[in-house]
Amino acid sequence: MLCMTSILPVTSVPEVRAAVAGLPAYVAGKSAQTAVTAALASNESHFPPLPSVVEAIAAEAGRIHRYPSMGAVEAREAIARHHGVTADEVAAGPGSSGVLQQIISAVCGHGDEVVFAWRSFEAYPILAAVAGAVSIRVPLQADEHHDLDAMAAAITDRTRLVILCSPNNPTGVSVSASALEQFLQSVPPRVLVVLDEAYIEFQRGPGVDALDFYRRYPNLCILRTFSKAYGLAGLRIGYAIARPHIAEGLRRTAIPFGVNRMAQAAAVASLAAGDEIRERTEAVAMERTRVIEALRGYGWDVPDSQANFYWLRASDELREQLLAALGEADILARGYAVDGVRITLADADTNNRVLAVLADRARFVPGSGTAR
Ligand SMILES: *Cc1c(COP(=O)(O)O)cnc(C)c1O
Repeated sequence: MLCMTSILPVTSVPEVRAAVAGLPAYVAGKSAQTAVTAALASNESHFPPLPSVVEAIAAEAGRIHRYPSMGAVEAREAIARHHGVTADEVAAGPGSSGVLQQIISAVCGHGDEVVFAWRSFEAYPILAAVAGAVSIRVPLQADEHHDLDAMAAAITDRTRLVILCSPNNPTGVSVSASALEQFLQSVPPRVLVVLDEAYIEFQRGPGVDALDFYRRYPNLCILRTFSKAYGLAGLRIGYAIARPHIAEGLRRTAIPFGVNRMAQAAAVASLAAGDEIRERTEAVAMERTRVIEALRGYGWDVPDSQANFYWLRASDELREQLLAALGEADILARGYAVDGVRITLADADTNNRVLAVLADRARFVPGSGTAR
């Protein structure tokens, strides 16, 4: 009898979809893999976990033979109380990247379009492609702001989702309330607009009151994370606030039990420690002002950042020089081909080490690349 394998071509092996094979790999900062003394490539909190949060995590560790709450019920209730919404308007996931994956699979079918600014968070095009959706990248303006007019104009009949990132990763620049108002007025109500506020706790001065916008625009979805200001990057929990039918859709597309017990408990404990978190974000915001002013004094062109990092737009040549000079000082920053270098803020001593490397502007090639 003929063996089946003998009639198959020898190259016949399982293949991943072309859309997946063509994806860039998500380049995580190297903090965990290498022993650099200043890991400034992932926008993590440089503060150790709060004692009350560690305690909550330790208590849950004794219960990990049991599944966590499927719907992350207590965490969602705490999040809802924190924002003055109901728990049925909250969907949690393993990091806000996980929630964003749920959002895209809940609202986008094959070939549907997702509009976002570029450069922005590198997970956006990856998550869109995995879902079979099409990324529409709208270049940032020369001053690094979202070009909201161009983004509104990019919306077609196939557009299901627009993602705004404010403060934007990697540039740190925020969308203003007036610009958001005008944008939401012009977006068809059937298009879901996700406002990714991963760094919003670091925002100072006038910004967007997302909850106010959310109450007035039913097609707005707020995306938040515990990974940055709350310092829970290693635990993986984030959430969306959306109208109940959307939030329900997100929960349906979630991996069952995707948010683990310790993450759920840590989120509840973190929200109860608001004052301590606020002290920490205040320290970062003060360092941000000091560092950016110093850099501008040295002759660097640095946009106003509202996040826990700052941005140096740079040509490929300047980027390579910067990363090499920082690397020699045992500092790891994040480089982006064509666009520039992003550096996470940390404690004053570490920030000063970066300033020492950048103090002599003339040591580096002039200009900052503007290719978009
Ligand atoms: C870090 C980040 C996130 C979320 O990260 P998670 O750890 O998955 O919660 C989301 N959006 C932006 C813009 C980020 O920089």
